[in-house]
Amino acid sequence: MNLFKAKRVKRQGFLSDRPVDGVESCRGCEADCCRGFPSVKLTAEEYSTLERLGAVRLLFLLNGEHYLLIEHGCEFLDQNSCSIYNQRPEICRRFTCREI
Ligand code: SF4
Repeated sequence: MNLFKAKRVKRQGFLSDRPVDGVESCRGCEADCCRGFPSVKLTAEEYSTLERLGAVRLLFLLNGEHYLLIEHGCEFLDQNSCSIYNQRPEICRRFTCREI
């Protein structure tokens, strides 16, 4: 039995003011951001796009807000990668993190 577990990397997430693609910090990550939040806020257009892509965990509220529910893991996760990377919502495109 190995009593010494690998040290877990601590990360701090933040929203960039513009989309970020292919950032180094995402490589080797276990997609914590796609599992660790309850939902992703969407525009109405993004909601329609994800609906066309087959999303089943979409939420439309009476106040007009649209969400993709990602609690316990987004349905578009494939292993630790986004299977709709080029069509992912803007909030996903802007979210990134750094090691602390
Ligand atoms: S759409 Fe892609 S990037 Fe956004 S939470 Fe889901 S798997 Fe992650």
